[in-house]
Amino acid sequence: MDEKEVLMQVKDLSVTYETRLGPVSAVDSVSFDIFRGEILGLVGESGCGKSTMGKALMRMIQPPGWISGGQLIFEGEDIMAYNEDQMRDFRGRKISMIFQDPMTSLNPVQRVDEHIVEAIQVHEPKTAIENALERAKILMQRLGIQKRRINSYPHQLSGGMRQRVMVGLGLVLNANLIVADEATTSLDVIVEAKLADQLKEIRDEFGVTLLVITHNIALVAELSDRVAVMYAGHVVELGPVEEIFDHPLHPYTQGLLQSVPNIKLDEREELYKMGGEPPNLTHPPSGCRFHPRCPVAMSICEQNEPAFQEVVPGRFVKCWLYQDHPDKETPTIEVAE
Ligand code: SF4
Repeated sequence: MDEKEVLMQVKDLSVTYETRLGPVSAVDSVSFDIFRGEILGLVGESGCGKSTMGKALMRMIQPPGWISGGQLIFEGEDIMAYNEDQMRDFRGRKISMIFQDPMTSLNPVQRVDEHIVEAIQVHEPKTAIENALERAKILMQRLGIQKRRINSYPHQLSGGMRQRVMVGLGLVLNANLIVADEATTSLDVIVEAKLADQLKEIRDEFGVTLLVITHNIALVAELSDRVAVMYAGHVVELGPVEEIFDHPLHPYTQGLLQSVPNIKLDEREELYKMGGEPPNLTHPPSGCRFHPRCPVAMSICEQNEPAFQEVVPGRFVKCWLYQDHPDKETPTIEVAE
């Protein structure tokens, strides 16, 4: 495997929310790297902590939540040490985020060109308005938005166009990382597929890194270079997309992939249903958080939390099946050739 340049390191990141029932550990000591220029898919069920993770990378967790531990190293600097002024500059210039509903981020009474010019002038106050406008026009055209559309208000654009405007707001400041949180979820399947293709083209053309957060496994398979699978606040598996889809290692990933509708499935065959429910994170299960639902749980799983370990180069998994422990002799790992 080629040596990849690390853009961002997430180290032991934890996010906690204070609730009436007590503190909830929505993200619990999670560590992984994001490589420059890759598309990393982050998947998992609703409530697994994936959106919280996306916001935490930008330090955008709002009370009653807070980042309760860990480091966020971006291009070698720990952004957890930044003050609010430094963070404001960092957001937009280095990382930008697009959400499921772009209308929540776009001002409904501001035209597309005004949004982009404003973004440029906030971060680059010396840029003349004519130059900012010219940059906005060129960028929008490269993103497939016609010239005449640049004077439109957000409600005059289709959902796909609004998402491209959001991508443009990140690219105009040369952000290195775009976090797309369920950015295609509200689009119909044809527009969604088109936007997915465009995101790939944008990555290739602008060299930007993308973290795509979604519950849509098919989208991740189509779009990503690597996949991180989240369960109950933990990343439980991470690796190259083909390897994870061909040979998932973690029992949760295996169940998740078997639950995806498959057109080749015989009509008499039933789709796999994962047993149990995701845990209540005010009182998460002891040991491995997946153990109450795991079809191959062992006694060690109930009491001891497995580490998130690289079990073969480039493949990380958080499961006792792949680690030495007293009840087990030799770990067996099957991976794609
Ligand atoms: Fe299942 Fe144990 Fe692995 Fe958890 S650690 S996924 S319970 S085998």
